[in-house]
Amino acid sequence: MAEAVVDLDAIAHNTRVLAATAGPAGMMAVVKADGFGHGAAEVARAALRHGATWLGVASVAEALALRAAGLTAPTLLWLYPPTETFEEVLAAGIDVSVGGVEALEVLADTADRTGTVANVHLKLDTGMSRGGAPAEEWAQLFSWARKFENAGLLRVRALWSHLANAENPRNPRLLAQLDEFDQARQAAAAAGLEPPILHVANSAAALQLPRARFDMLRAGIGLYGIEPVPGRDFGLRSAMTVRAQILLTKRVPAGTGVSYGPDFVTDRETALALVPLGFADGVPRHAAGRASFSVRGVRCPIAGRVSMDQVVLDVGDLPVRAGEWAVMFGPGKAGEPTVADWAGWAGTNPHEILTGIGARVARRYESIR
Ligand SMILES: *Cc1c(COP(=O)(O)O)cnc(C)c1O
Repeated sequence: MAEAVVDLDAIAHNTRVLAATAGPAGMMAVVKADGFGHGAAEVARAALRHGATWLGVASVAEALALRAAGLTAPTLLWLYPPTETFEEVLAAGIDVSVGGVEALEVLADTADRTGTVANVHLKLDTGMSRGGAPAEEWAQLFSWARKFENAGLLRVRALWSHLANAENPRNPRLLAQLDEFDQARQAAAAAGLEPPILHVANSAAALQLPRARFDMLRAGIGLYGIEPVPGRDFGLRSAMTVRAQILLTKRVPAGTGVSYGPDFVTDRETALALVPLGFADGVPRHAAGRASFSVRGVRCPIAGRVSMDQVVLDVGDLPVRAGEWAVMFGPGKAGEPTVADWAGWAGTNPHEILTGIGARVARRYESIR
């Protein structure tokens, strides 16, 4: 009844646009949260075929799922609990982000016990105050990393950081983060660490901030075709269309209350169409009253509250029949709303709209080449 059609050619195109900005280590395709809802393995395959060199995910489970799907490209993960011991991670040849000495010790210990070498990316907090080692801990982190590296237990492959304000290239907090990263590099070099890869840039930074590009970029939202810099168009192509078949239509008189409440009462005779997508599928409840779908390229507002599994559209005098498609969002080329429209209606960002599309919505892949 409902499907998310993923255009792998758009993923390929976006990869080429982003990878053109990349330094010598190339581009990491960030496929966390099931590829922002698009399907991690499918997106990873398309991106690797068109210029991506690395894969990036949040969790151990996500990284192992990529390996289970047959993806052998260099892969970085950056979130794990303090109880993680990394046996499977090291056996699968997955790189680990490390922002503290404890995790370094655990990795070195597991590498020692299992006869492997742990590949680590030292994560530095340069001012976002989220993950990574704060500046006071850098010296200690670098010296332990160097020690374990000398013992042949781990290899420091990268220094990295994440930016909190990459959308505006003149944001003072952003520039302070880049200065702080330079400090970190110097401190690492002084401790004898000069890893081959420095990576800082997300999609927005890669596209408009050459100073942040270093050796590799980590592309998430841009890979999925959402323009990451407000007001700028880098020619990215939105990769996902979410749509559902209209299940029934009915004509109702003026004064008809629709859905729970009702919050919505028809002010004229009109037609209603029932669409099997609700808040469990990622239609934000909060967007009712502003949001619309498109049917035959015509915008049709949601009438009344969003239910868990369904919404009702006010289709007016469109001669719509059951079985026709109602489009929640798509590239926007045929009158349908975009992910950015939904983000505006729901007061959130496009990332939350994309990752909110529920598992019940079947993913289907289309690719011309
Ligand atoms: C999600 C994520 C990215 C991708 O950022 P975009 O702005 O979506 O390109 C990059 N790096 C890290 C650490 C992330 O968590």
